[in-house]
Amino acid sequence: MLPHLFSLTPDQLAELLRGADVPCSDAEARRVVSRLVADGRPDLTGPHPVAKVLRAAVDAHTRRDLPRVLERVPDPDDGSVRYLFEAEDGVVFEAVRIPLHKAGRFSVCLSSQAGCAMGCDFCATGRLGLKRNLKSWEMVAQWRIVQDEAPGRVSGAVFMGQGEPLHNYDEVIQAAKMLSHPNGGRISADNITISTVGLVPQLRRYTREGHPYRLIVSLTSAIPERRAQLLPVAGRFPLPELMEALKEHAEAHGDRQTVAWVLMAGVNTGPDEVEALKGLLEGMPLRFNLIDVNDSRPDGYARAEDAERKRFIDALQALKAPVVRRYSVGRGRHSACGMLAGKRLAELAAEDAAAAAISAPPPSSA
Ligand code: SF4
Repeated sequence: MLPHLFSLTPDQLAELLRGADVPCSDAEARRVVSRLVADGRPDLTGPHPVAKVLRAAVDAHTRRDLPRVLERVPDPDDGSVRYLFEAEDGVVFEAVRIPLHKAGRFSVCLSSQAGCAMGCDFCATGRLGLKRNLKSWEMVAQWRIVQDEAPGRVSGAVFMGQGEPLHNYDEVIQAAKMLSHPNGGRISADNITISTVGLVPQLRRYTREGHPYRLIVSLTSAIPERRAQLLPVAGRFPLPELMEALKEHAEAHGDRQTVAWVLMAGVNTGPDEVEALKGLLEGMPLRFNLIDVNDSRPDGYARAEDAERKRFIDALQALKAPVVRRYSVGRGRHSACGMLAGKRLAELAAEDAAAAAISAPPPSSA
């Protein structure tokens, strides 16, 4: 399979072509990537065309196909648009275009995997299981397609769609490089966020490698047993180990570590959590992003009422922890955090199961 152009920085493209005995200067490689990735042009013709020989070589040594858009679902309540994509091998994954407060600016929530292996108890994607890792170009393609159809600039990207980004580490880092590259997505590295449920070895690697993107770690409970029930990965990487890794990351960046807290009524908003957090915050300062749960199951976790949420926020503020409340978009259209893969994917999974049942041989009567 040829390398995809959306996965190659200009340096990597030049190296690839030179390896195939095609002369390509650094400036030419930058021009090619800029045209095809940053500008999203379909080819290298048009004004100031790239030399014919180089054009032919790029066509011969790279591919530029895009995933198929199966569905675009706008949510008129908040202006978000959910995209459902289908890859060549039939796996489906999603992205969400999110309007930002600054008029005419958008962010895109990207999937890093089709499905997810982490099995978080409150998350629709987790219930699908992992289908496969996405390639970096498939993540860049999500941005490109969303940007092409956006009425303004997509100036931010968050890896918070389907999948655990650090479970697909190399491809996510390459995608972030392409998205922030001046000839690629031209999104400032500060405006690219990678979220994780807390895979400690990958977190430590991320810190060692000194990447400039923002990192958010889902804490969601400070009580080890409860955290392990909500985020099964916590059984593999216990809280003290995670906090140690976060401390290293915060010290390397000279900043408070941001953690996400998915609020669930009657589960993780009470005095026991505040007490446990008191201990954690003595060890290191944290900044909290609070997100209301979006469990799509009828008997699933419920959103906290205003009074319960306010009590928890007040308690965090009393601990001198900065708190930001994050609002999910797309609740009405199954595209909010934890709901990706909720509806259409469940339908597709049901269709797959029905098709498998039809095509399966009848049970042996022997
Ligand atoms: Fe995976 Fe994130 Fe859902 Fe957890 S919350 S199952 S990491 S997609």
